[in-house]
Amino acid sequence: MEFIKDIHREKIATGKPAISFEFFPPKTEKGEAQLFHAVLPELLKIQPDYCSVTYGAGGSTRGKTLEMVSRIQKDFQLTCMSHLTCVNATREEVNQVLIEANKSGIKNILALRGDPPGGKGDFQATEGGFTYSKDLVAFIRSEFDFSIGVAGFPEGHIDCKEGREVDWDRLKEKVDSGADFIITQLFFDNDDFFRFRDHLVKKTGMTKPIIPGILSVLSTRQIKRFTELCGASIPESMLNRLDDLAEDDAAATEFGIEHAVRQCEALLDAGVPGLHFYCLNKSYSTNRIVDALSRYR
Ligand SMILES: Cc1cc2nc3c(=O)[nH]c(=O)nc-3n(C[C@H](O)[C@H](O)[C@H](O)COP(=O)(O)OP(=O)(O)OC[C@H]3O[C@@H](n4cnc5c(N)ncnc54)[C@H](O)[C@@H]3O)c2cc1C
Repeated sequence: MEFIKDIHREKIATGKPAISFEFFPPKTEKGEAQLFHAVLPELLKIQPDYCSVTYGAGGSTRGKTLEMVSRIQKDFQLTCMSHLTCVNATREEVNQVLIEANKSGIKNILALRGDPPGGKGDFQATEGGFTYSKDLVAFIRSEFDFSIGVAGFPEGHIDCKEGREVDWDRLKEKVDSGADFIITQLFFDNDDFFRFRDHLVKKTGMTKPIIPGILSVLSTRQIKRFTELCGASIPESMLNRLDDLAEDDAAATEFGIEHAVRQCEALLDAGVPGLHFYCLNKSYSTNRIVDALSRYR
């Protein structure tokens, strides 16, 4: 299995984008069987460069996340990154997770602070734990040999009341603590991404790969809930169209694919080094989008 920093370096050298997918640990055996026997084999047809598995809210999927990452690497020989958060964990507990990850052959960690348990209120660091993801990044860098990714927020992080540029400056500090690449929160207006990238590159001197996170809409209700939780916005014209399709998930899915293809084409034309798809443990939309981007690969 490879370090993702090397995958990005190799892809950038060839001028082709790295394509990656994100999964979450299924809650049921049926969901897990579906992921391993149907979704992953389908997604592999479009030859992804790597994938990742989320860490459940409140650290709830700790063991499951590592188990899934190892199984994906073993069953499909696909490099897989484990997400890791600081929620409900002391430094020693985080250390144990990292030791276990290392033993299981995991080479890549997406280092995150995480959200407060229940998703509400201010984040409180666990006693003896980490307050910000940059502290986690620094810890991993000093103790282990993982390639480290961090989260970036093209519209600014939802908790950052000082404005998005302050949040982006903090992202630079986070990267300077030892991260190798950035994966962004979902966004629908590429201008948000370009402003964010311009600030990072031109104002802070960022040189690490900045990978846009792409979500293809599956239903109006679902995307309204997601964006409310993470603080991303839906452009007015898109929202109007989605409101028209509120009772028709199949049509909303088609609209989501069309929007994502246009969005990805414009991002690739503007030279992004990769695309990270929030595929929500499904293959249909992501396969259609990546197929439509074949001329870039
Ligand atoms: C690609 C991606 C994957 C994700 N995967 C998961 C997952 O698997 N599991 C999960 O639970 N969540 C996940 N999240 C959500 C993430 O955990 C939340 O958005 C969380 O609220 C912030 O995490 P962070 O790592 O960006 O935090 P941080 O970088 O620590 O930032 C959190 C807040 O603190 C502020 N801040 C940073 N440094 C300072 C400072 N020195 N002083 C004052 N304020 C500061 C920032 O501006 C920001 O508002 C993911 C998000 C993304 C974009």
